[in-house]
Amino acid sequence: MVNKSPFFNFDDRILQAAENAEKMCSEAFRKIEETEHYNQQKVLAAFAKHRISETHFYGSTGYGYGDIGREALDAVYADVFGCEDALVRHNFVSGTHALTTALFGVLRPKDILLCVTGAPYDTLEEVIGIRGEGNGSLKDFGIEYRQVDLTEDSKPDYLAISKNSSVAKVVYIQRSRGYSLRDTLSVDTIKRIIEHVRRVNHHAAVIVDNCYGEFVDKIEPTDVGADLIIGSLIKNPGGGIAKTGGYIAGKKELVEQCAYRLTSPGMGKEVGCTLGETRNMFMGLFFAPSVVASAVKTAVFAAAVFSQFGYEVYPKYDEARSDIIQAVKLKSPEALEAFCRGIQKGAPVDSFVTPEAWDMPGYEDKVIMAAGAFTMGASIELSADGPMREPYAAWMQGGLTYPSGKLGVMLAAQSMLESGVLGEK
Ligand SMILES: *Cc1c(COP(=O)(O)O)cnc(C)c1O
Repeated sequence: MVNKSPFFNFDDRILQAAENAEKMCSEAFRKIEETEHYNQQKVLAAFAKHRISETHFYGSTGYGYGDIGREALDAVYADVFGCEDALVRHNFVSGTHALTTALFGVLRPKDILLCVTGAPYDTLEEVIGIRGEGNGSLKDFGIEYRQVDLTEDSKPDYLAISKNSSVAKVVYIQRSRGYSLRDTLSVDTIKRIIEHVRRVNHHAAVIVDNCYGEFVDKIEPTDVGADLIIGSLIKNPGGGIAKTGGYIAGKKELVEQCAYRLTSPGMGKEVGCTLGETRNMFMGLFFAPSVVASAVKTAVFAAAVFSQFGYEVYPKYDEARSDIIQAVKLKSPEALEAFCRGIQKGAPVDSFVTPEAWDMPGYEDKVIMAAGAFTMGASIELSADGPMREPYAAWMQGGLTYPSGKLGVMLAAQSMLESGVLGEK
């Protein structure tokens, strides 16, 4: 018989499904651990190369001139991501802010921005000027936006990419699925996209939204020709420890342009005090390979559990992954609500809260979210959300540790069972 928990009251069906799931996942887990060990070595070697010591953690105030911790952190990130330079700052308020800084840093009036992976992440619509008017978007500054959609089976349209790239100043690629059910792009697929761009355009800056992708693979887009990669520190590379921030990494000249946009032309990377945040950012990067491995294991485990109860899951437990996101088609509003209630119960913070669907600004349908994190909004911590519309899918991600992530997934299934909706329809 399956092991009972002395702390949580699980039904035997949930315990059995969890036990089966871990058996199903053993090969996937082995691969995740192999990547984890590789990436941990990569990170440690960069720390050693740059002789990181306590003096890098003191931080600075005021202008922050000559902050050696800030400079070392940039250098470590650049090495880890296999590129020339990086801009890692707590001053980035979010991933969107880092992406915005990069786009405004690199693009000039009359330039063309070409997104080659379909519609970009929601928050970028107003940045680009697809949605909203007169808010200082790229469009307001005379930057034209063009888009190459994915094919019907949600793959990159290589032919159209080659055809449309020649005039672009920036070719933009989004690695993660975001809140769609398309496939996340593997780094190999990104490599192939870049090869198609380079056939017709040697000068464009290839910029990759790398959010949720860091450390899921052994290589990053910068290892295969991307000119800049960008992400959030309250996702993968912050390791659950960075309290805020973002990074931009890639070609030195482009990183400098981004720094001129973040601070001021001429000042760039030379300024920006770090207060007391550098230690957290170093420590988060040190933990990131392990934390990302825990999050990916949690996602794989969830895929294995929910597919046993007849749900469609994206990706499947044995499919290759390139981000930490797991989508589960829950098929009814009641099931989505029960799922989120269960995830919330597994949170270390705010476990007693009952998530409810609400009208989020910028979204057409109500959205329900489960999150109980040490860092507000940190989606490297276990969290789930979904819009209240067909097919009532939940997107879940995170899990700082696998045992806690696993528990959250089991509580989600238990909550659905108790609501009488597990395996319904
Ligand atoms: C999270 C994310 C972003 C940035 O979102 P923020 O909430 O502003 O950090 C951009 N693109 C993708 C694919 C993301 O997952």
